[in-house]
Amino acid sequence: MHLPQQAEYDESQLRLLGRLRDAGVSERVRSAMMEVPRDLFVPIGMKRRAWIDESLPIGNGQTISQPSLVGRMIDLLETRSEHTVLDIGTGSGYQAAILSLLVRTVVSVERIPSLCQQAADRLSGLGYRNVQVFDAGNELGRPELAPFDGIIVGAASPDVPEVLVAQLAVGGRLVVPVGSREEQQLAIVERTESGIKEKVVDWVRFVPLIGEGAWKA
Ligand code: SAH
Repeated sequence: MHLPQQAEYDESQLRLLGRLRDAGVSERVRSAMMEVPRDLFVPIGMKRRAWIDESLPIGNGQTISQPSLVGRMIDLLETRSEHTVLDIGTGSGYQAAILSLLVRTVVSVERIPSLCQQAADRLSGLGYRNVQVFDAGNELGRPELAPFDGIIVGAASPDVPEVLVAQLAVGGRLVVPVGSREEQQLAIVERTESGIKEKVVDWVRFVPLIGEGAWKA
């Protein structure tokens, strides 16, 4: 993959591209991010702010994350083109769209039915054919479609959810914000031949992951 000529971008897009570069987002992920029209994933009244590096409300008390954080988390997932990735918390579908350009299959789950339906319609309308969007079940993730090469969680959990670790393939990685309702750190959990490796990196702030093994609604 290569970065298209800069001339294809307007000023606000170029500024975001610069922000992503400064934030250390890899070229491969930056390139995918610049192919996804974020303005079509935010509410009508927010379009002017779509190319600013900030989180924005998407309705139902939920938010689309800041682009530099989306890029950072996708880098931590270490995706490869043959991977199948589970995206938890479809929200607007923005992160799922970026992932779909980087991996073979994206399975995305969302617990709020209206967001789920809108995101599914938006993603299929925009032609992201390798993304499957599902209403989240009672159990976290999508155990019947496991194992996944990567699992990325766009909401904060009190601990690393064991039910998600169980859905990882050998060599697979889980990236999940873990901590209190107010602040969290990104946990990276890797399933290896010999067991589970875990580390925590950056401090972040996410909306709560709701469900069994996470927070109560
Ligand atoms: N990644 C999204 C934003 C995620 S916001 C984007 O690109 O727009 C977090 C989302 O996680 C919210 O929409 C929330 O409803 C959803 N969520 C919370 N708990 C969940 C669960 N247990 N399963 C699936 N989705 C969940």
